[in-house]
Amino acid sequence: MIERLSPTVRNVALAAIFVLTAWFLWSVRSVLNPLILAYLLAFVYGDIGYEEAKTKSGTLVRAYATPDNVKFTGFALDIAVKCLDFYEDYFDIPFPLPKSDMIALPDFSNGAMENWGLVTYREQCMLVDPKNTSLPTKQYVAMVVAHELAHQWFGNLVTMRWWTDLWLNEGFASWIEYLAIDHLFPEWEMWTQFIVDEQQSAMKLDALDNTHPIEVPINHPDEIRSIFDAISYNKGASVIHMLWGYLGAADFRDGLRHYLKTHAYKNTDTVDLWEALEHVSKKPVKKFMHAWTSQPGFPIVSYTHAGTEVELTQERFYLQKPNSASTLAWPVPVLGQDGTPETFTGHETSYRSASPDKINKGESGFYRTIYDPASIAAFSSIIVNFPALDRLGLLADTFEAAKAGYTDLKVALQLLTAYQSEDNSAVWDIIAMNLGEIRRVMDDADVRETMKPFIIRLTAKELERLGWEEKEGESYFDRLLRPTIIGLNAGAEEQLVVKECLSRFDKMKTPEDIPADLRGIVYSTAAQNGDSKTFDKLLDLHNNSTNSEERTTLASSLTHFKQPALIKKALGLITTDTVRRQDAMYWLAYSFMNHHAKEASWEWLVSHWGWLEKELGHDLSFYRTPIYAGRSFSDEKFRKTYHDFFKDKSTPALERSIKQGAEMLAWQIAWKQKELAQVLQFLNTKS
Ligand SMILES: [Zn+2]
Repeated sequence: MIERLSPTVRNVALAAIFVLTAWFLWSVRSVLNPLILAYLLAFVYGDIGYEEAKTKSGTLVRAYATPDNVKFTGFALDIAVKCLDFYEDYFDIPFPLPKSDMIALPDFSNGAMENWGLVTYREQCMLVDPKNTSLPTKQYVAMVVAHELAHQWFGNLVTMRWWTDLWLNEGFASWIEYLAIDHLFPEWEMWTQFIVDEQQSAMKLDALDNTHPIEVPINHPDEIRSIFDAISYNKGASVIHMLWGYLGAADFRDGLRHYLKTHAYKNTDTVDLWEALEHVSKKPVKKFMHAWTSQPGFPIVSYTHAGTEVELTQERFYLQKPNSASTLAWPVPVLGQDGTPETFTGHETSYRSASPDKINKGESGFYRTIYDPASIAAFSSIIVNFPALDRLGLLADTFEAAKAGYTDLKVALQLLTAYQSEDNSAVWDIIAMNLGEIRRVMDDADVRETMKPFIIRLTAKELERLGWEEKEGESYFDRLLRPTIIGLNAGAEEQLVVKECLSRFDKMKTPEDIPADLRGIVYSTAAQNGDSKTFDKLLDLHNNSTNSEERTTLASSLTHFKQPALIKKALGLITTDTVRRQDAMYWLAYSFMNHHAKEASWEWLVSHWGWLEKELGHDLSFYRTPIYAGRSFSDEKFRKTYHDFFKDKSTPALERSIKQGAEMLAWQIAWKQKELAQVLQFLNTKS
């Protein structure tokens, strides 16, 4: 299943589509085995059309949608055929059914569901409209299709025994979607994107004391909801990625084939996979993986180079160290220059090295590293010679180490100034994320102002290189990078960029006048500089749009006004027919992200809690509400407000996210107190 991402649209010309999904109990399944082959089945009935194609081995693949959307199913259909071909070859097992159907449903609260032989999708996860779908969304469609089809083998052909091993299903599918899409589109550099989208986002959540191990005991059925999170999906995928690096591609693939063939039409536990991989590779997979899947959190390795010696120590990485910090250790693959140990298992180790050398090359190890200041300075003077993933890892780790108090934020900001010639989209994602987080947590007018010239200078070279117009033959990563660079400049109020956005918005007759990749920036800039007339124009576009991505983009803009009356107006729409129920949480989350709107968003949340519970209590996104709120504030006063409100709201499904929101809030208050003066001083000297 894919839960993450976005909303879809109002029912477009939808006659009636009925979906019946049957979740067979595992116990029942075991009794009937092998008569019932999968735990998920779906039947769909309604006014739908389709396009079809065949795989190399003759499986009939059909992509269904409502009649007016059939013309947008071609891309997903093509990906489905190619993925089935790829998996048949990779797993060395034919697709077990004579047909493979897929359907885009106009009203579907999940991203997609891997029912055997009939995968159901949100429209936004399956339909690609060449004129209105942005590049990241098109890529996302490819990845979701690759994910769901991998489940036909890993999940359906072989099924986990109990929810504790949900991660195995989801982590694996979230990893192999990259392998499949990398095979289809090598120019998309999927493994570089993997480190940002899977590994870094997993580490963010896993840095909290209130995280959970990948293998989590499930005691109450409602707890299942709370584990469809970045730990099961993203950390699961990340430790599988680490294992892939540890075993090598061939042994990993052969071990998987052995696992799937041995356990076809049966149930498994995590350990069955380790045994199969061990059988083929002859490496101690169980021992290596046990710490990563059974222990919460992950390590930070402190690296000190002195004379000709390197000393490494490891401890659990906490965003904010709790009173009783854990003393866990992990088998850490060091992956440095020749002579470094293969894995570092205890709390400390040392080895000889003439000069400082970055470890965790290629960043496949699921840990952070903080280097001594002299080593960071040495790396930053030759940063352009580092491969992209190592530039990315060094910067991400130094910023996160600063947030957790292992170094000062000034050290990370100073390192960032060495990235003025950076041209890699994934590295820029890390830069944009960190600048955004500093701005949000410091929540200070002076920081917001002094950061603007800093950002404008940092991005100047790339803004000039990329410009506004797509160039013939430019790389895929440059196409992804353009909106990031223009967006950073729009946020920093770079005069020419703001002027261009406003002029494009004014001249726009239909959304198609603006490239889909830049539309969000143009709309948001118009909102930030606009008035009630701008609001009405955006709302009109929203209400008339039949494209789900477009409506999400517009929701984000409509919640980004400065004026209190317009902020209220946007929040007021959430409970009306204007906003589909499945989109409601996005409106609220976007509104919390607008620093002018966070107080009003909180008031709205408090006064509509009963409505949210009633209307959206079944939706996985509802359980993130406390996190949306907690991460929006950095002041002591709000801490009490938060606790007072949530103290009687805890349920098995909400408990973890209430604690996570509280922990983020506590960290933000502390980090602001510690760093605000230094950040301002740094930015002032750079302005
Ligand atoms: Zn899945």
